[in-house]
Amino acid sequence: MKKLPAQRGRVAVIGAGPGGMAAALSVHQAGHDVVLFERYPHARPAGNILNLWPPPIKALRLLGVNTGPLPQLIAATDPAHVQRWVIRDRKPLKQWPKGRATLVGDAAHPTSPYAGYGAGMATEDGYFIGRRLAGVDLSDYAAVRQALDAFETPRKPHTARQSQHAYALGQVFHHAPRALQPIRDAILDRTPLMQKVVGDSTPISILTQLGEIDRAEAHFTALLGLGGTHDTAS
Ligand SMILES: Cc1cc2nc3c(=O)[nH]c(=O)nc-3n(C[C@H](O)[C@H](O)[C@H](O)COP(=O)(O)OP(=O)(O)OC[C@H]3O[C@@H](n4cnc5c(N)ncnc54)[C@H](O)[C@@H]3O)c2cc1C
Repeated sequence: MKKLPAQRGRVAVIGAGPGGMAAALSVHQAGHDVVLFERYPHARPAGNILNLWPPPIKALRLLGVNTGPLPQLIAATDPAHVQRWVIRDRKPLKQWPKGRATLVGDAAHPTSPYAGYGAGMATEDGYFIGRRLAGVDLSDYAAVRQALDAFETPRKPHTARQSQHAYALGQVFHHAPRALQPIRDAILDRTPLMQKVVGDSTPISILTQLGEIDRAEAHFTALLGLGGTHDTAS
């Protein structure tokens, strides 16, 4: 089992949600040692549906995760274990990295569920951060910062757009003034607005992210060719 040898370093990942798990796998594949800290000792049910878009599924597969059983796992959750909590929104952060640390997933861009993409974006973040840290000497502060900034730059506009989009949908679905609700329902039911707003932009977003993953993977594979071999099933 070989990894990229020269730049091996140690990375702490805080939180074993979709973002933390993907980051831990990706950073491990990059050849660094990873310690994953989670405040809860057991996996906790998060809901009864999880929709994952094609880019996070692709990222998970590249990380060696068998995504086949995910729907069955979620379907098998005992409804008594499903929890409810209030959904809160926060404006996107201006900056994710600070020093040698960065944020991924909801910590960076909390996303309400109306786009069905928060876990997906957290998974993508995790995948990309590991790919960015491949070949980086973690004892070199400037190199680490450069990798963290390079990770953040394309992720921030994408995730901000999706989070704002999810927020706007939530407002329309659940917070329209009572007097406007019949008009809203008529527009949603009888006009192509949703198709225009969601249906037309979603394929472009998906294709863009799949392209970003392809580019990251090509770079990673080239690095592996220079320094070692992959240690997972990707
Ligand atoms: C009802 C609902 C439905 C949703 N449906 C979908 C969907 O269909 N598709 C989709 O893509 N997204 C969906 N989402 C969004 C998705 O659940 C979140 O965006 C996703 O869980 C974010 O992942 P994360 O890893 O960033 O954070 P989290 O899942 O919140 O994980 C963070 C982890 O960090 C741990 N932690 C926090 N602080 C500490 C600490 N100090 N030390 C150690 N551990 C710590 C927490 O215990 C937790 O395990 C839905 C959300 C809701 C509420």
